[in-house]
Amino acid sequence: MSDRPQGFDTLQIHGGASPDSATGARQVPIYQSTAFVFRDANHAAALFNLQEVGYIYSRLTNPTVSALADRINALEGGAGTVCCSSGHAAQIMALFPLMGPGRNIIASTRLYGGTVTQFSQTIKRFGWSAKFVDFDDLAALEAAVDDDTRAIFCESIANPGGYITDLDAVAGVANKVGLPLIVDNTSATAWLCRPIEHGATLVVNSTTKYLTGNGTVTGGAITDSGKFDWSASGKFPSLSEPEPAYHGLAFHPALGAMAFTFHSIAVGLRDLGMTMNPQGAHYTLMGIETLSLRMEKHVANAVKVAKWLEADPRVDHVTYAGLESSPYHDRMARICPKGAGALFTFAVKGGYEACVKLIDNVKLFSHVANLGDARSLIIHSASTTHRQLSEAQQIAAGAAPNVVRLSIGIEDADDIIADLDQALTAATA
Ligand SMILES: *Cc1c(COP(=O)(O)O)cnc(C)c1O
Repeated sequence: MSDRPQGFDTLQIHGGASPDSATGARQVPIYQSTAFVFRDANHAAALFNLQEVGYIYSRLTNPTVSALADRINALEGGAGTVCCSSGHAAQIMALFPLMGPGRNIIASTRLYGGTVTQFSQTIKRFGWSAKFVDFDDLAALEAAVDDDTRAIFCESIANPGGYITDLDAVAGVANKVGLPLIVDNTSATAWLCRPIEHGATLVVNSTTKYLTGNGTVTGGAITDSGKFDWSASGKFPSLSEPEPAYHGLAFHPALGAMAFTFHSIAVGLRDLGMTMNPQGAHYTLMGIETLSLRMEKHVANAVKVAKWLEADPRVDHVTYAGLESSPYHDRMARICPKGAGALFTFAVKGGYEACVKLIDNVKLFSHVANLGDARSLIIHSASTTHRQLSEAQQIAAGAAPNVVRLSIGIEDADDIIADLDQALTAATA
């Protein structure tokens, strides 16, 4: 074998996997086992001391889940990746080693609705908080940082408003203030965008969506670039100082680029327990093998549907960065040149009432609170996923009351358009 780096399409099939050493099984077996037998007492001690990498107990690591983590790591171009039970778990796991009571994060106003709720409400129970800023206003972003800020958080392609974050510019601010940039890459996937190449420190993914691609399981992943110096500022003692929760191991001095990943396993998964199970990892491993093929079709279909909607007189406007009319179209060329994803919104003439009628009249589309399925999905965000938000937050997140969100699937584009056409007729009659 040469040292030539393998391409994305190869890595999505082979990354993290080799024929099973015990049986030769070509597919990654589902290691449905809670615990793994130690060779002897010394082996057990070496594993617990992180001197040797191996399997102890499936709350921490499991061979099926590790294969998926290594595959996602290869696709994102990271130093290490940890899988966990959902995308929301991944966000908590990403923040956990960085935060403490009284600490805050700066988050983009353009985020998945559930993330806005997690950051504006739930993390307060830990004594953490979030300040929401328009990430197009770099001066405001920098001004929001204070001595207690520990991370900057955004989405590469923001769900659901057809927004693309200028990752290079945001990373420039993060770099200047010496803080890690965390990028949620769920809507783009590594095939459309590789946030680490644009300066991200950590990448979080909800594997529930495109990575699995078939709407079967929830899961999440945190990929560390391995490039952030956790010791430089003294602001990240869980990583730079002796960690009392792990017999005084100083993770960053001892483990360097793997510090965050080992901490996430040895302390994060061990004590928070947000573990991905091997059966779930199996479904995602099956899906991820075809990620690039599916994303290519998702994007091609989304462009066709968005163009058709934009030209339709029953439609007020379409927010999709893949359209030349989008203010974020230029950013697409730089941040995600293969396309702006397959998730966008459009505003129906006739407002809230027409949106609800439209949703009740689609036949091919499924009305569900999900995205990134092979199937085309539709939802009225303001009355569902973004219901907990104020109207101002809804509008900022691109989920105004007159707006419908589509997750374009990989069916025939003509069938997707025909379904929207008949539902728009019913909605605006
Ligand atoms: C779905 C989603 C999440 C949350 O992931 P779960 O797996 O549902 O917990 C986070 N961010 C984005 C962009 C999402 O689409």
